[in-house]
Amino acid sequence: MATFRTVLFYAFAPVADPAAVRLWQRELAGRWNLTGRVIVAPHGINATLGGRVEDLKQYVKGTRQYPGFERLDVKWAAGTGEDFPRLSVKVRPELVAFGAPDAVRLGPDGIEGGGTRLDADGLDALVAERGGDVVMLDGRNAYEARIGRFRGAFVPDVTTSRDFLGEIEAGRWDHLKDRAVVTYCTGGVRCEVLSVLLKDRGFAEVYQMDGGIVRYVEARGASGLWDGSLYVFDGRGHVEAAGARSLGTCERCGASTARFENCADAGCRTERLVCEDCAAGTAEERCPTCVGERPTAWGAREDVGGR
Ligand SMILES: [Zn+2]
Ligand SMILES: [Zn+2]
Repeated sequence: MATFRTVLFYAFAPVADPAAVRLWQRELAGRWNLTGRVIVAPHGINATLGGRVEDLKQYVKGTRQYPGFERLDVKWAAGTGEDFPRLSVKVRPELVAFGAPDAVRLGPDGIEGGGTRLDADGLDALVAERGGDVVMLDGRNAYEARIGRFRGAFVPDVTTSRDFLGEIEAGRWDHLKDRAVVTYCTGGVRCEVLSVLLKDRGFAEVYQMDGGIVRYVEARGASGLWDGSLYVFDGRGHVEAAGARSLGTCERCGASTARFENCADAGCRTERLVCEDCAAGTAEERCPTCVGERPTAWGAREDVGGR
C-alpha cells in the first residue's frame, strides 16, 4: 500500500525568471502526481504539497537542483493522498502577501535583517531567563489562534497577512517595542518577513521561531509552551500534539472543537468554529458576523490577544 505524506517548505533565494520557474515546478510536481500549492516569487519559493512519499522525495530532490533552493528545510507530516483538491502553481510578487515586497533583502544565506532564530531549546531558555519580558507574537491570521497558540501569546487582530503592516504602522503594537518579541507562525516563512518588518520599524529585540510551530511541537509535543491544536491549510484542518486539547470551542454549543467551516455566504471570509455535532445545523447558514450578531465564542477573542 502506498504511504502518503504532506510536505511544507520554503526558501528565500533570488528567482530571476519566476514565470519559467513556475512552468518547471508545474511540470515537476505534475510528473510526480502531487497536489497542493506552490508559490513562486522573485524572492523564492513556498510550497505545501501532498502525495506518495517516494514521489515527494523525487520532487524535493528535483527542486533542490535550483540554485538557492538546495537549502530547503522540508517539514514532513502525515498525509492521506487527498489532502489537497488539486495542484496550483502560481507566481506572486511576494511569498507571503504582506504588501511589502521591498522589505525582503536577499543575501547569500537567504533573507537578511530578520529576527534571531530560536529553536525549541532556545525559546524555552529565553522564556526561563526573561519570563514576562518575552512576548510571543502570533504571525498567523487571528482565527488560527482560536484553536491553539503559545501560552500568553499576543494575537494581532488580522484577517489576512495584508493587515499586519497596517496594525504595526497604526502603532497598535508600540507597547511591545522594548520587550523581547518572538514571532511565530506555522512553518516559519511568515516570520522571516514579519521579523524584518518589526526590526525595520524600531522593535528593539526581535526573535523568530525557526521552523515555526511545526518544529516546536515536533520537539516538545504537548509538554512545552504550546497549547492546543495547530491549524493547517490542507484537508486535515488541524493537527494535535500528542495529549493536547484544542483551545477552540463550538460557537453553537460551547463544546471543545478544532473544526473550522466556511460561512455559507461565499463572499464572507469568516471561518466558523463549529463542532461535528452542530455541523448539520450550520451548513446552509450565514455566520453571525454576516447577519450582524456578535457570536458568543468571539467574545473570547479579546482574551486571546492578552488585550
Ligand atoms: Zn457544537
Ligand atoms: Zn459570514
